[in-house]
Amino acid sequence: MSTVGCEHFQEFKSNPNNLDTLRWVHSVFVVGSSKDKRTGLNYNYHQTKIMNSFCHTCNNRGPNLHACIDCVFFGCLPHIREHTKEEHHDFSLELTYGQVHCTKCGDYIYDSELDEINKTNRKRSDTFHRRLFECSTWNPTEEEKDLLTLYTQRVCITDKSQIGLRGLVNFRITCYMNSVVQVLMHTPLLRDYFLSERHFCKTDSESCLMCILSNVFQEFYNGDKVPLLLHKLLHFIWTHAPHVGGDVQQDAHEFFIETLGLLHKHCAESINHTSHAVVTNNCSCIIHESFTGSLQSDIVCQKCKGVSTTIEPIWDFALDLVPGALTLVECLKHFTKAELLDNFSMCESCGLPRQVTKQLSIKTLPTVVTFQLKRFKKSDEGHGKVATKIQFTEMLDMTPFMSTKKADSPFPSDNMYSLFAVINHQGETSYAGHYIAYVRQLKDHWYKCNDEVISRVGLDEVLFSEGYILFYHKHVLGYK
Ligand SMILES: [Zn+2]
Ligand SMILES: [Zn+2]
Ligand SMILES: [Zn+2]
Ligand SMILES: [Zn+2]
Ligand SMILES: [Zn+2]
Ligand SMILES: [Zn+2]
Repeated sequence: MSTVGCEHFQEFKSNPNNLDTLRWVHSVFVVGSSKDKRTGLNYNYHQTKIMNSFCHTCNNRGPNLHACIDCVFFGCLPHIREHTKEEHHDFSLELTYGQVHCTKCGDYIYDSELDEINKTNRKRSDTFHRRLFECSTWNPTEEEKDLLTLYTQRVCITDKSQIGLRGLVNFRITCYMNSVVQVLMHTPLLRDYFLSERHFCKTDSESCLMCILSNVFQEFYNGDKVPLLLHKLLHFIWTHAPHVGGDVQQDAHEFFIETLGLLHKHCAESINHTSHAVVTNNCSCIIHESFTGSLQSDIVCQKCKGVSTTIEPIWDFALDLVPGALTLVECLKHFTKAELLDNFSMCESCGLPRQVTKQLSIKTLPTVVTFQLKRFKKSDEGHGKVATKIQFTEMLDMTPFMSTKKADSPFPSDNMYSLFAVINHQGETSYAGHYIAYVRQLKDHWYKCNDEVISRVGLDEVLFSEGYILFYHKHVLGYK
């Protein structure tokens, strides 16, 4: 596992002026106090911070205000992404927790020097504010009181990488739900969408799953560490989709797909889609934008070699575990292999029933690619589980499985995906046992989410785990 972080930031750091700029923006706009160069004393930048913390495009004071390090443009989440992309500026600083986002990586990055800046600045502001508290003649104004409360809360967070890591209370048997929610919370595209509060709702928020999930996101990322109880979500699932709720252990994959369906439905309702778009999968909601790809099926006549092609939308790849396939790539090869069908099929060119082959390939890839390894067998003899170890890797090139091979493309990394979450099942059947999730935080920190308990793990542990649902994210994201 690399702790070196983003290569672009390494280059950025090689110019010491760049790091100085970053240090200054951090101390003023994240922490709110900075050392005066002449006197060496801490200078109070609250006023500066307050006056200047707004988006230069839409004038809003948030949420998730960022500062561009190249030109000190300030922007809310959608506008900073727009800015860095259009201006080709590489780094922006998130002003609440001090995380740095790399435009080229399309993600927040970890860097030891950055960590150091964060710690020193916060420590300094901590002693600074304590001194203010101890001074008996100083009577803070209401505004200052508010600010001080805010800062005191903030400096309690000693390790910034802990933000966005929260245990989830296992309420009766809800580890299947907790695992899926952990994955959704760490899906970069969804996180950006929900934290920038882009869901505007016309319906009553109690009956909208998008609103409920939006609240979970806000709570999840508020810096608090107490495990969350997803009571609203639980209540919603139990009343709207009882077949994946209730008092028994459920299959995490069924729950995941059901949740995507409900999210899409409420998203489409709130953006006033025509019912037509909701029925066909021609939908532009965030769920479809993130998870929908399409599968091409080619039926080839063995006599005239005539091809009949159909294309269907898909949300995930359900992969059979077959003898001999011991890696994810081998499972995908099997999935996209041409197969001779048992029954004859009508060939349109020949006008006769013919022997045909059927071959699947991927027409378009979604931003988030989900693989379900079909470990659970449902037969009359009962529910068994195939525990074969299927090897999977951190990086995955989907090019060999595409309908149109882009081997000659000047951008060979077009179809590169990186692993960001894994859901594992421990036990004998999908309706018993226990679910846990591994999630990637920042660029390459991995955490094991076992209900209330979150623990740091190495990438090796993730890759050596059994694997039930694997989540990959498009490696380089072009933000719109
Ligand atoms: Zn804005
Ligand atoms: Zn800029
Ligand atoms: Zn980078
Ligand atoms: Zn809503
Ligand atoms: Zn949709
Ligand atoms: Zn034919």
